[in-house]
Amino acid sequence: MLTIYNPATGTHITQVPADDAASVAAKFQAARAAQPAWAATPMPQRLACVARFRAAVVAELEALAATMTAETGKPISMSRNELNGLLGRIDFFLAEAAASTATQTVLAEGGMTEQIQHIPLGVVANISAWNYPWFVGCNVILPALLTGNAVLYKPSEFATLTGMAIVRLLHAAGVPADVLALCVGGGEVGAALQAQRIDGLFFTGSYATGAKIAQALGPRMVKLQLELGGKDPTYVCDDANPATAAASLADGAMYNTGQSCCSVERIYVHEKVFDAFVAAFVDTVHGFKVGDPMDDSTYIGAITRAAQLEVLDAQVADAVAKGAQLLTGGTRLPGNTFAPTVLVDVDHSMDLMREESFGPVIGIQKVASDAEAVALMNDTRYGLTAGVFTPDEARARALLAQVNAGSVYWNCCDRVSPRLPWSGHGDSGVGLTLSTYGIQTFTRPKAWHLRQA
Ligand code: NAD
Repeated sequence: MLTIYNPATGTHITQVPADDAASVAAKFQAARAAQPAWAATPMPQRLACVARFRAAVVAELEALAATMTAETGKPISMSRNELNGLLGRIDFFLAEAAASTATQTVLAEGGMTEQIQHIPLGVVANISAWNYPWFVGCNVILPALLTGNAVLYKPSEFATLTGMAIVRLLHAAGVPADVLALCVGGGEVGAALQAQRIDGLFFTGSYATGAKIAQALGPRMVKLQLELGGKDPTYVCDDANPATAAASLADGAMYNTGQSCCSVERIYVHEKVFDAFVAAFVDTVHGFKVGDPMDDSTYIGAITRAAQLEVLDAQVADAVAKGAQLLTGGTRLPGNTFAPTVLVDVDHSMDLMREESFGPVIGIQKVASDAEAVALMNDTRYGLTAGVFTPDEARARALLAQVNAGSVYWNCCDRVSPRLPWSGHGDSGVGLTLSTYGIQTFTRPKAWHLRQA
């Protein structure tokens, strides 16, 4: 059995039956047997299942948000936002799945035809994270199903009730039970899943787990996608409006209690606007309400995994020991919460500026030039997102062109679009989700060479 706790209150919510190696193997065999018929199901029918799923999410939105908040500690307003944001992603997949995987004729000449056909990978596994469980689950499950794959889905052990809801609603919408199977449990169930003869593994989670999975799958030639963490930087130029930039970046750093893969994790500010920026940033942070995640007005909720509180404690202590100045926060609060924390006089000798914090903690470093900012932004093993604040588009484009990141932002941050590919450079991962590429990634391009006799 897997016990589900409420991280904000510590109370036990429920227990659910967990999988083991034998049940995962049985689900894999059933998925393998069911996949060809699903792949042969006409696209309009698969699209209709996903459209019914969308309607069910709308109908149950309030209850689904409450479940996600109870098991993750995400503020309830942000749970609603995630579910509403999901609808736009579903609409994108519904609009693009058929066109982006239609067979393409690339030559038809002198009796010779060449075509590219997108065939499903087969049976794919989705091992998922808890921080945006609807987003990261559905970014894989929906395009994988729409392109004719069977999916074995292991939600995070910290968002299992949400994972169960995703599967329940897709089954009710017409996806056959064996085509989408839920695997419940922690790392050992993920390891059992990756041991099956799957055709693709799509993972969202930490670098540490991603690296273990990559090592295990390396010799097996299984398609592998890893969406991992980041240490996402933003640079505020000398011509930026410090108050506007501070309001946007405080939200980018602390939204979802800082537990977003694309949270702003480090800020570099030109010395000309540094003081004004920091004052406005701290002011904004003081306005963030910390408290009960079920309260509509709460902005900072619980830290979902209690162990992360130790990481935050250690990063703050290490930074302060090395000379950082703590402007606000720095301590744990009741309800598995960490006070929104701002540090200045920081540098890259500190873990705070190098390792993912995944909490409401930010370091703000003063820089003297654009060149220094770019060098610091690139001084990382990660490369998920990066941003620049300046009114000058040409300057922003020139700076962002030099930054090693999968997504770059001008005057915005902490933003994901279904129309754009979501990918990481370096230790932030391999492969991508979203955009039409994130639909095609669940297929193999099969090359047809056809000569008329
Ligand atoms: P995690 O690595 O602890 O767990 C992720 C999943 O892996 C869970 O389902 C877990 O049960 C499973 N797992 C653990 N050990 C395993 C093993 N040995 N074999 C197979 N599976 C195993 O990560 P988390 O705490 O759930 O998520 C937080 C991390 O995810 C952060 O680093 C965050 O940046 C990252 N993230 C990245 C993206 C992205 O799109 N790049 C999105 C969301 C979260």
